[in-house]
Amino acid sequence: MKQKLTSSKVKYLVIFLFITCFIIGIVAIGWIILDYNHPSQGKVKTFKVRSSKTINYSPHSKETKEKKIISPVKIKRAATNHISQADNYAYLTEDVRLAMKGPLNPQKPKVVFLTFDDGPSTINTTKILNILNQNQVHATFFLVGNRINPQTQKLIQKEYEQGNGIGIHSFSHDYSILYPKGVPNSTTVLNEAQKTQNILKSFLGPQFNSRVWRYPGGSMSWKNIATSEILLQKNNYTWIDWNAANGDALGSKSPKNITASLNYHEMSLQVYPASNVKVVLMHDDNSKEVTIAALPQIIKYYRDHGYKFGILK
Ligand SMILES: [Zn+2]
Repeated sequence: MKQKLTSSKVKYLVIFLFITCFIIGIVAIGWIILDYNHPSQGKVKTFKVRSSKTINYSPHSKETKEKKIISPVKIKRAATNHISQADNYAYLTEDVRLAMKGPLNPQKPKVVFLTFDDGPSTINTTKILNILNQNQVHATFFLVGNRINPQTQKLIQKEYEQGNGIGIHSFSHDYSILYPKGVPNSTTVLNEAQKTQNILKSFLGPQFNSRVWRYPGGSMSWKNIATSEILLQKNNYTWIDWNAANGDALGSKSPKNITASLNYHEMSLQVYPASNVKVVLMHDDNSKEVTIAALPQIIKYYRDHGYKFGILK
């Protein structure tokens, strides 16, 4: 009797094991079939990216690392002398210097570069900025390092933030230091450019860098600028003169009223070769009331003659 019971238990156990193995087998086959159809499931995650395109993302694959680098990272903008909003009207100084020589090509656009030397000025810079703003045009300011101080710092920030270009016009503006015996001392020229650059960076931030230099007195006033030019170029600076002026740098011979200033300007245009670009020399130091008074008319002149307004970079 006892032997019969044991035999029956074994029988049930065998059936139970058989059914269990059968179920495990079915599950295993099903798993293999599913895994065959979706081989990477569980290893590869799918993510939606901003562009609404779907990309495969595997945390450890080389491909993923490359995609992660390409997609969300913004390309860093190189440090320059103007804000990014001004990029579409900022022109390379070397190109402008070349185009100033002419000839005039009526098929090509005309661009004027209003420039203001010798600032910043606590009296006139704000007035100039207001006129530029009212007319929705921009200019390039060539600043003198030793005139930049806590009182004028805000003026420079305003010039920059309003979308104008910032150029360097030496630190001392002292001809006897910069040009002993009428020849530029290249080391002094570079040192003054760097010194002013560093002051500007300290106020405007590390994203600021100006390549644009203007020789006090203009390059044409000095002998043998080649050595200085090479050293400036090696240090990523370039320079620019002008091919139009309002005569406000002539001291006692400067135009005394708006009409005289506009006449001088028109006359200056005849002196230089006809070209598609005009670089207008003006000043914003403290004594330039006529410059301020005539500026809306100067802007109107170029607007009426079909010029766009650019800044130098
Ligand atoms: Zn000057």
